[in-house]
Amino acid sequence: NEGLGSWPARRARKTPHRTALTHEGQALTYAGLHSRTLRLAHALRARGVRRGDRVAHLGPNHPAFLETFFATGALGAVFVPLNTRLSGPEIAYQLADAGACTLVHSPAHTALVAGLRQAGQAPSLGCVIEVGAEYEELLDGSTEEPLDEAVAADDVCLLMYTSGTTGRPKGAMLTHANLTWNAVNVLVDADLTADAVALVCAPLFHAAALGMLALPVFLKGGTCVLVESFDPAQTLDLVEEHGVSVTFGVPTMYERLAREPRWDAADLSSLRILMCGGAPVPTPLIEAYARRGLAFQQGYGMTEASPGALYLDAEHAARKAGTAGVPHFFTDVRVVRPDLSPAAVGETGEVLVRGPHVMAGYWQLPNETAAAFADGWFRTGDAARVDADGFVTIADRLKDMIISGGENVYPAEVESALLAHPDVLECAVIGVPDARWGEVPRAVAVLREGATATPEEVLGSLAGRLAKYKIPASLVCVRELPRTASGKLHKPSLRREHGGAPT
Ligand code: ATP
Ligand code: MG
Repeated sequence: NEGLGSWPARRARKTPHRTALTHEGQALTYAGLHSRTLRLAHALRARGVRRGDRVAHLGPNHPAFLETFFATGALGAVFVPLNTRLSGPEIAYQLADAGACTLVHSPAHTALVAGLRQAGQAPSLGCVIEVGAEYEELLDGSTEEPLDEAVAADDVCLLMYTSGTTGRPKGAMLTHANLTWNAVNVLVDADLTADAVALVCAPLFHAAALGMLALPVFLKGGTCVLVESFDPAQTLDLVEEHGVSVTFGVPTMYERLAREPRWDAADLSSLRILMCGGAPVPTPLIEAYARRGLAFQQGYGMTEASPGALYLDAEHAARKAGTAGVPHFFTDVRVVRPDLSPAAVGETGEVLVRGPHVMAGYWQLPNETAAAFADGWFRTGDAARVDADGFVTIADRLKDMIISGGENVYPAEVESALLAHPDVLECAVIGVPDARWGEVPRAVAVLREGATATPEEVLGSLAGRLAKYKIPASLVCVRELPRTASGKLHKPSLRREHGGAPT
């Protein structure tokens, strides 16, 4: 068995007594994880799950998530984690798109799932299992006999939907080999040790928490502390309580953490690796953490790459802060011009990624799959530039780039500059039509409580710091910015609401 489904058994053979997971104060050893995964696999097989079948999961970070993932992999079936923040119709769409035969879900989703089934909206679902008493009974009544399913490294193991930041989420088909190579890349570059205690507070149904934390930590035999939903105050408590050494977060999570009243007093001495990625990392955020002696190990990647492509390791984290580092050990990255020729040092171009961790293709989307690859390279749709030492700085998504009077404006750079203003709590920059320049940037911002600056004053603070064409022509104050479940700015809805002609 070359698959990930064998990992719990292999770990149980090596380190049975080490803690694999903790969740709400309960610890599970590797031997326990192996036993539960094996029993679940038998139970799923008894309920009809076969090689290649899709087994969906709908729920927060919880041992059942990882158990279902490994059990499904052990059967050669395909795990489909669903985003818990999706609406009923969106969940129905993904279940039908994946053709899932089985669904394991949290008690919080019981009514929603029952409603979908009653309305005939989940026709492929034959079997539904609720985590809790029903799930535990299933395990209790099962067996621990060896399970010898032939699973090949190139079998699809995970159908993971992209975040849907730019459109409808697409299912990326990731194989056992893809996920394994990514985990190896992370172990080579991130210096995870066997005594690692990883705080998993980003959702496991997105690529980063699974690929950058949980799987590499299991490969090495460390511990994952599972948190169902991110709460900044609780995060500081957990870091102290468990002596957390590594975590992954998107920039907004780290921002909320640094705004926590107890931030300055909290004991963060156990933290060694702060992985940050998934969205552009603003300079003021890097500076706020540097004041506490912490440097981000920025990671850049995407669901399609399982997900790591670039990584800024500990050795360079401070010196090259703000960059996303260099390609992972087994990864090739190129920055190219529109004709796919290499961009010069310092020239902004599109990022291409190639490696054994890049997906087999999008599920049932042959045209999108064909369009996503050029000569075997995955086209990321992200803009970046490379410095003379080979370190890559991600600018933004090409789709979000604003062209004003023929000049390219990358919203992330403008957002980072706006966040340096003391009254700006959060902000987003979009392009709006303009008679003279074609398009001009507009800022949409959430100001801090008690802020006194006017929009003109905030924009005025950018003069001299950014080129004139990059300075937003207008600033709209709002109470909240639309974000995806992974905490990224959702620009399509911002454009819908604030993207009209300039006021
Ligand atoms: P969709 O593909 O459905 O529109 P998505 O691209 O947000 O959604 P993910 O695969 O979760 O889905 O995210 C990958 C994207 O996140 C990258 O293509 C890039 O735009 C952004 N990203 C990831 N890491 C970084 C980073 N360190 N800096 C800037 N952007 C990043
Ligand atoms: Mg994408």
